[in-house]
Amino acid sequence: MKIPLITEIQRFSLQDGPGIRTTIFLKGCPLRCPWCHNPETQDTRREMFYYENRCVGCGRCVAVCSTGASTLVDTGGKSPTLVVNRDKCDRCLRCAAVCLTEARGISGQAMTVDEILREALSDKPFYKNSGGGVTLSGGDPLMYPEFVLELARRLHDEGVHLAMETSCFPKHWETMEPLVEHTDLFIVDLKCLNAKRHEEVVGWPLQPILRNLNNLFERNATVRIHIPVIPGFNDSEEDFRDYAEFLAGYADRLNGVDILNYHSYGEGEYAALGRMETYKFAGVAENPAEVVLPLVKALKDKGIPGITVGGLVGITCNR
Ligand code: SF4
Ligand code: SF4
Repeated sequence: MKIPLITEIQRFSLQDGPGIRTTIFLKGCPLRCPWCHNPETQDTRREMFYYENRCVGCGRCVAVCSTGASTLVDTGGKSPTLVVNRDKCDRCLRCAAVCLTEARGISGQAMTVDEILREALSDKPFYKNSGGGVTLSGGDPLMYPEFVLELARRLHDEGVHLAMETSCFPKHWETMEPLVEHTDLFIVDLKCLNAKRHEEVVGWPLQPILRNLNNLFERNATVRIHIPVIPGFNDSEEDFRDYAEFLAGYADRLNGVDILNYHSYGEGEYAALGRMETYKFAGVAENPAEVVLPLVKALKDKGIPGITVGGLVGITCNR
């Protein structure tokens, strides 16, 4: 069984499904959306954050770094400057353990199903009173189908509502099928409906995603769609028309559609992970709110139910 690392357990979330939810972020995603706002969830391995603006140059991390990845360099200022060379870093993360200013951080914590369950069940009274539950997010939880299935079964045994945020990427439907019985809500991120552009930009074929989505509907799963509206990628009139026409075929079975306008909240995380070169949206202006209105109208004209508009791409999607 492939075991995920967990990047965060977010309590009292109101954005990842109905009611008050505990959202568990699993680390690892096979897609590479260039606008991704949660870059720490892309790589399956543990990673080290370094927030330069919090560093006071104390040198505590240098003392524990055995690879020479952290060094203090005299740059002629009042105090030496810390230089982090990630090519030398072996991800031991000893630096994060000794840093007092939180200039260093760790992304990725190993947790068993039992440990996650214990955390999630401690919030059970909130689920009961609000109609909430647990949401598995990422990254993409379907990177770890056996682990997630075990967790889903155990949560269902406890009577907890389970939502799953996914891009529906698996190339084999059999990977997803067992989860249908134990998942109350699939929140599917649909990045665009142009197969060529999808594969070129996101790095993953669209065909298995559409097949899996169709299979979810065929099996009467409850499905909400997330549409991240991304400048220059899927925000043309033609894209909006494609979404409306495609989703019209499922209008009577859809739980709803959440439109998520692009934001650039993730930029600081790319810098802290030393991966600015992979953030292709650096400096791209956020879409004005009204840019999504033609999409709302196109969906409404086709009778699509439950449309909401938000602005939090990357907080609730597989970026
Ligand atoms: S321990 Fe933290 S504050 Fe001190 S030099 Fe290292 S990163 Fe900077
Ligand atoms: S995580 Fe990297 S920078 Fe930090 S102590 Fe280990 S090798 Fe050095």
